[in-house]
Amino acid sequence: MSETTDSELADAVRAGDRRALARAITLVESTRADARARAADLMARLLPHTGGSLRLGITGVPGVGKSTFIEAFGALVLARGHRLAVLAVDPSSTRTGGSILGDKTRMEQLATSPEAFIRPSPTGGTLGGVTRRTREALLLCEAAGFDVVIVETAGVGQSETAVADLVDLFLLLLLPGGGDELQGLKRGIVELADLIVVNKADGELEPAARRAAADYAAALNLLRGGEALQPEVLTASARTGDGLDEVWAAIGRFSDRAVVIGAHAARRAGQARAWLWSEIDAGLEEAFRRHPDVAARLPELETRVVAGELTPAAAAAELIRLLEG
Ligand code: GDP
Repeated sequence: MSETTDSELADAVRAGDRRALARAITLVESTRADARARAADLMARLLPHTGGSLRLGITGVPGVGKSTFIEAFGALVLARGHRLAVLAVDPSSTRTGGSILGDKTRMEQLATSPEAFIRPSPTGGTLGGVTRRTREALLLCEAAGFDVVIVETAGVGQSETAVADLVDLFLLLLLPGGGDELQGLKRGIVELADLIVVNKADGELEPAARRAAADYAAALNLLRGGEALQPEVLTASARTGDGLDEVWAAIGRFSDRAVVIGAHAARRAGQARAWLWSEIDAGLEEAFRRHPDVAARLPELETRVVAGELTPAAAAAELIRLLEG
């Protein structure tokens, strides 16, 4: 594709054309060198038009009701006049060959709304690769005028920490019940959360959901009592829609307060810095692995390290000297 066509693609994205947005995301997801160069050019063109969305991370164990929640909550967000994009991060999908949004029945209604854009998880690649592409996809959605972007992740791996690094507010969905479900979550996710919602607060599960919410609120008081942005704990039902208004209101309270105390700007600045360093790390590693002298020397040094003849530190130092010329 020529230079002109790339600028046309950028214009089409900016005009909010969902098909152009999908193509642009496919471009940033590509690992081919020529596509990477074009993607970098596209990102540079569109960067000035990014930053304007509310970036929401949503996580929770499989079965907690993430897709049901996003479908119902998404409808509410659209009804309030927003444009909503939903992105998924799921590096584990490389193992199953599928994606967490691959099931076509998920978020069926949302998918048909012209004001919504749903993008399944990029399949393949490492967590680092997937989050890099998700970060760029998020910026592309912003350039296309989506003012609420949800990044969904299945709360079972390390992807939560990565997603917390992409968003303004990290929402943790929990199941009603004693807290045992936390065992399915990596320790520390509760500490990453900005808002906790106990889902399935309906029918006979409602009392358990309320008790669980009270328990989590008490635990958070102990854990994060003094914090300026101590997370609220709510109950909701993605199935009936009860409590979703309150979730939206709590998100608004959090965002307003984060802006007022400077936490919003500080967080985004920290994220930009972290992004820079992860790009530097990735670029250096790529250059290292591509370097002919390094490639020539690496197998022998690796063998000697494995045999216990050479320390890893000494081998690394020698290889890095080769890279430095
Ligand atoms: P995900 O794996 O986290 O995306 O969860 P799903 O949205 O696929 O939901 C898992 C199951 O929980 C499905 O059978 C849903 O119908 C059910 N579910 C989701 N939300 C609710 C809810 O608010 N109340 C009840 N009772 N069931 C729910």
